[in-house]
Amino acid sequence: MRIKDKHGVQQFLSDYPGMALRPCRDDRTLMRGIFEFRAVPVNGSEICDQYELELEIPSSFPKALPKVKEVGGKIPRDGDFHVNYDNTLCLGSPLKLFKKVSECPTIAGYAAKCIVPYLYAVSYKLRHGGSFVFSELAHGKQGVLDDYLRLLDLRSPGEVLDALELLGIKRRIANKLACPCKCGERLGSCNYHNKLNQFRKLTSRSWFKSHHRMLGAGELL
Ligand SMILES: [Zn+2]
Ligand SMILES: [Zn+2]
Repeated sequence: MRIKDKHGVQQFLSDYPGMALRPCRDDRTLMRGIFEFRAVPVNGSEICDQYELELEIPSSFPKALPKVKEVGGKIPRDGDFHVNYDNTLCLGSPLKLFKKVSECPTIAGYAAKCIVPYLYAVSYKLRHGGSFVFSELAHGKQGVLDDYLRLLDLRSPGEVLDALELLGIKRRIANKLACPCKCGERLGSCNYHNKLNQFRKLTSRSWFKSHHRMLGAGELL
């Protein structure tokens, strides 16, 4: 008999045997434990290390992102290690994380593509100092906007906000509005709509709507 493995949780638990499920009254999946990994990046040195983590996986994963907290007190909270004010780890800009998750939409895939690279960079920095390896992004709003300029292939933060706003609107209506690439056309008449449609697949309109609101208001993510 095949056991239903929602989001690949069983695969995750067998990849990271120090992690265990925690009871939860709603439809989220909670896990906590020792997350032990070994990583050998291309052109990088091998690191084996472990962190005590708490994972919260929303039932709408992979259309919503998990929250990851480090609860062992090993990562310094001094502003240099990409830890958010709510204690969650800043594993990358949300759209980048959605893109990575879409390539491998399971919790094990999320761990391998989003959690391990971050922890590798933390361990590397703890051992050797210097800046975060593999990411030159600033923490917070500026880093997110810089990442979106590249991901969305736009030139100014205003264009990025326009693009996020359009992603929060029904495609049919958005296509009648001005294109964020400043071509002077409606979105539907510019090839740029193909670019935006790739992002529509990653998550929901309501997610883009609230993300646009948060970034526009300058609230920390
Ligand atoms: Zn950050
Ligand atoms: Zn355009």
